[in-house]
Amino acid sequence: MPFAQEHTGSYYAATANEQTDYPRLKDDLRVDVCVIGGGFTGLSAALSLAERSYNVCILEANRIGWGASGRNGGQMIGGISGEEKLVEKYPEHADLIWEMGWRGHDIIRDRVERYAIDCDLKHGYVDVAIKPRHLRDLEEAEIKLSRRNFPYEHGLMSRQETCDALGTDAYIGALKNMGCGHLHPLNLAIGEAKAAESLGAAIFEQSAALKIDHGESVRVSTAEGSVTADFVLLAGNAYQFLDKSLRTRFLPVMSFIVATEPLSDDLLDVVNPHDLAVCDPNFLLKYYRLSADKRLIFGNRFRYLGEDKDVIAANHRPMMLDIYPQLKDVRIDYGWGGTIAVSINRVPQLGRLAPNVFYSNAYSGHGVNVTQLAGEVVADAMCGTMERFDILAGIPSMRIPGVNQFSDALVNLGVLWYGMKDKL
Ligand SMILES: Cc1cc2nc3c(=O)[nH]c(=O)nc-3n(C[C@H](O)[C@H](O)[C@H](O)COP(=O)(O)OP(=O)(O)OC[C@H]3O[C@@H](n4cnc5c(N)ncnc54)[C@H](O)[C@@H]3O)c2cc1C
Repeated sequence: MPFAQEHTGSYYAATANEQTDYPRLKDDLRVDVCVIGGGFTGLSAALSLAERSYNVCILEANRIGWGASGRNGGQMIGGISGEEKLVEKYPEHADLIWEMGWRGHDIIRDRVERYAIDCDLKHGYVDVAIKPRHLRDLEEAEIKLSRRNFPYEHGLMSRQETCDALGTDAYIGALKNMGCGHLHPLNLAIGEAKAAESLGAAIFEQSAALKIDHGESVRVSTAEGSVTADFVLLAGNAYQFLDKSLRTRFLPVMSFIVATEPLSDDLLDVVNPHDLAVCDPNFLLKYYRLSADKRLIFGNRFRYLGEDKDVIAANHRPMMLDIYPQLKDVRIDYGWGGTIAVSINRVPQLGRLAPNVFYSNAYSGHGVNVTQLAGEVVADAMCGTMERFDILAGIPSMRIPGVNQFSDALVNLGVLWYGMKDKL
């Protein structure tokens, strides 16, 4: 686990609204709640608690948004990963589970407005179909949205409509959803941190939590200080290392993203002119969208590629050109990667290590909205309202034998397996 690192060389870090510079923890603090990890999960929980006048602190090992939250595709997609498993286990709570799948979107919209967070939030998203079986899935998803009276514009698109909307004939149809969208994730994280700070939360960067002493009050130690708290939230997700047992319950899968140079007006007339976020249905999916300054931000889940921008660009360019041959002369300016925590059953993992020590992680690549929900749900649980927490925590997480020793080999095997399934 890296400590005291600056941001990766992403487009987001290069265009962040500000460079955060919160102090290192050098004292012994006493708070109501100590949040470990300054990504969306930790920030959402801290902000939810600060809004209720709890005395909260955040310990971040690197910088706010340093992990997946500041590096992701910025796609605000719908629902919760593994939602059908939650409904299977709790059919009586199907309505509440559906609502939870969209709650993160409302939290983002509300916070962007309430705290004037400038994070390029834009509505408009399509799930695209490559094969007839994908079209059938999209038809089912559309029926579900309609049955639920989904309040945002949505609808199936024919092959031609998809081609006209996206400027590519790579797909045979799509489901458009104007309740989903895209955003600059690092700026959302920085904005949420500022909002929490404005409500009294104490934020420390480059202050890794190194040890937890459990008890009625919990003591969290960093290299130079400590925090004693009534409650603790472990929100380190794929980057968490404090509790070994949590690390055995997800696969750390790398995903890499490139950002092109800003596209010319001529290209923008053709390439995604409606500025939609796009996700394909494969396990090893491709996802893309335009940034506010009109770069194509194009991501794919894959094997480890390292941090060299040119290596990542060389890997992604052919995939990008398969979809958009028009971009053959377009430069790639940024390339970066991050780690996604993928649970075996794809359901997010919420739970407790002790009555007053919570964890929430493993959103399986579906975390921009669900982290916001999870933070609120954990905050509720700390305040004594357990209903949503008990549902989300109700599916036991499965341990992956050997994941700490052989994670690369297991991920490579998974990539092979899912790559084959995608081709069927
Ligand atoms: C490349 C990539 C693309 C993605 N694209 C999308 C997308 O388009 N849409 C979507 O919905 N999801 C996407 N995801 C998933 C999403 O980004 C994550 O689910 C989400 O950001 C997880 O947030 P988090 O706060 O739980 O974890 P993180 O953002 O990873 O934050 C964890 C933080 O905890 C800190 N930390 C860890 N241990 C300690 C410690 N002991 N002490 C102090 N701090 C600690 C780390 O430094 C880190 O900053 C993507 C992920 C990646 C990597």
